[in-house]
Amino acid sequence: MIIVMKERALEAQIAAVQEKIEAYGLKAHVFRGESKTVIGLIGDVSKADPAAFRMLPGVEDAMPVGKPYKRASREFRGERTVIAIPPVRGGDRGLEIGGNGVVVMAGPCAVESREMLLSLGAYLKESGARMLRGGAFKPRTSPYSFQGLGVEGLKYLAEQRSIVGLPIVTEVMDSRDVEMFSEFVDLIQVGARNMQNFALLKALGQCGKPVMIKRGLSNTLEELLMSAEYVLNAGNEQVILCERGIRTFEKFTRNTLDLSAVPVLKRESHLPVVVDPSHGVGHWDLVAPMALAAVAAGADGLIVEVHPEPAKAVSDGGQSLTPRHFKEMMEGLEKVARAVGRSLA
Ligand code: PEP
Ligand code: MN
Repeated sequence: MIIVMKERALEAQIAAVQEKIEAYGLKAHVFRGESKTVIGLIGDVSKADPAAFRMLPGVEDAMPVGKPYKRASREFRGERTVIAIPPVRGGDRGLEIGGNGVVVMAGPCAVESREMLLSLGAYLKESGARMLRGGAFKPRTSPYSFQGLGVEGLKYLAEQRSIVGLPIVTEVMDSRDVEMFSEFVDLIQVGARNMQNFALLKALGQCGKPVMIKRGLSNTLEELLMSAEYVLNAGNEQVILCERGIRTFEKFTRNTLDLSAVPVLKRESHLPVVVDPSHGVGHWDLVAPMALAAVAAGADGLIVEVHPEPAKAVSDGGQSLTPRHFKEMMEGLEKVARAVGRSLA
């Protein structure tokens, strides 16, 4: 952080700022210019609050110069984080997210029944999906909408995992459920609406399972990185970032899928980046083009909604691909991945 003093700041005011800096256990470096004095803070400035300095007499401004996220930052780790998803029973090999292979996660918005997964799981795997998605606890805007099958839904996902051998990814909404999720789930998803549920993030920091955090509807990328920082700081290094679209004034799409998030997050952080084109656009016919674009932009994975009969879906039918459309999308993805020097995992 640097502190800029007002033009005619008194020596006593400069001394008071220095004293406050030293009270934090930091060193103050004073640069005297022709008209203004600037004071630099040296040491771990994470606990020094710029606002506390701005309040002091004679201070014009206090500006952080470093990044607020540390463990999530690119500088913190020399190499990219690769998250290993161990092989599941019936699966042939483990998975890596963040390596050369692009990992496609697919499945229904919500687990609606055991049967729907039975009809879908094997087809998704054959078409190239490497993880099965499906919400058991659903964050719905209306309390009167279907809230998910809960634990029963998790059991159907776990059953399907053992039948087809695809690891499962599903959303946790309550920190009290984290322990149970750690037992059942291979990748724990934090939904957009819970991106800043800090109690949940802290609990996930201690769960020992990989966590995927989706960007909030109106959150900046810096805020997404700070949410990752919560999980990392609590002791869990297995964090994946997910861009799923943000709210803008545009109405042709449900959200605006911010694909620039991919190169930005990869520049700023060592963590893998996944894109959710389904919630990003909200219309099934726009999903494949944006999925291809996400891979071209450098995404390490995709999470896509697929429903055996979208017209009958209890949630997000309009943005769900049919199994056949999913297969077609996978063919395109293979080519784009190859064109950018990658492959499908
Ligand atoms: C979901 O993946 O089913 C979901 C609810 O997504 P989001 O949290 O991004 O809205
Ligand atoms: Mn959905």
